[in-house]
Amino acid sequence: YRVKHAGGNQVLHFDARMGEPARQRQLDRDLHAAQERGQLRLHYQGRYSLQGALVGFEALIRWAHPERGLLGPGTFIPLAERTRLILPMGAWVLREACSQAVQWDFAGRHLCMSVNVSPLQFEQLSFVDEVRAALNLTGLRPEALVLELTESLVMRDLDRARSHIEALQELGVQVAMDDFGTGYSSLSVLQALPFDHLKIDRSFTQGLATGPEHHTGSQRVSRLMGAMIGLAHTLQMQVTVEGVEHAAQLDLLRQLGCDHVQGYLLTRPLPPQEARQQLPPLPPGVSAPADFPDPS
Ligand code: C2E
Ligand code: MG
Ligand code: MG
Ligand code: MG
Repeated sequence: YRVKHAGGNQVLHFDARMGEPARQRQLDRDLHAAQERGQLRLHYQGRYSLQGALVGFEALIRWAHPERGLLGPGTFIPLAERTRLILPMGAWVLREACSQAVQWDFAGRHLCMSVNVSPLQFEQLSFVDEVRAALNLTGLRPEALVLELTESLVMRDLDRARSHIEALQELGVQVAMDDFGTGYSSLSVLQALPFDHLKIDRSFTQGLATGPEHHTGSQRVSRLMGAMIGLAHTLQMQVTVEGVEHAAQLDLLRQLGCDHVQGYLLTRPLPPQEARQQLPPLPPGVSAPADFPDPS
């Protein structure tokens, strides 16, 4: 039979004939090659204080696929985790983000680079050594690095998680709990582990200040948000709220005493050449690295 549009669309034709397992194997082969061919990229999304100052960037991985265009992590991270390719990939992300932070003089600007860490990577006994090696290799000051962990990640082995987090903090690296509030045991994780930062998941932000003024649902979300911010402060953690898309949400978060925000309202994740435009001028008396004015 005829596949609609198949003549003009090779990808559709190819997909229609290939079973799902074969497709996954193809993607896996492509992904292995991607790393070798330099198709993996980091984009950077700014994190801002409620006073509007840039406080850092989060590194977010992308795959510049030759046929399918720029792919987000949702399309290939799960596969990379199944095949353990995430281990070399995660190590690359860490080195690349640290090296970018040095190039942008994060230490002189008092900025932080946040890096997402996968469960498999974090569980390695050598993980802390890997972080130390990335810092030594790039010369980034540990204080300028934040590692983002998710609850599912740390729950797999709480004792190992605690010892890794404490060793990282010993080094001077900061640790954030990402996507807070979406797991099944967010509070027990906070009881067990000494995070420096809490990132409240964007699913909470979505319901914030978007309904009619006195809509009971949005009032409840806003109280919940306030309580989570209070909880973080009680435990001496800094709070970032993710997924801020509307000015009204920003206003409300300011009233609620939130520390930092991230979201499309402020900036989308951007390739390095565009992200660097957001860097503030260097404080007086601090000189930029010699190569700074060159495009990265
Ligand atoms: P995350 O760490 O929670 O990152 C935030 C995600 O929300 C990013 O999606 C970002 O683009 C998106 N986002 C930011 N602001 C907004 C907004 O205002 N509205 C909406 N709708 N979305 C917003 P992205 O880049 O697709 O990354 C998805 C997830 O993939 C990340 O969630 C993180 O868990 C994972 N990831 C990304 N990069 C890496 C990496 O290098 N290593 C590992 N292991 N995981 C990564
Ligand atoms: Mg994150
Ligand atoms: Mg998150
Ligand atoms: Mg998320």
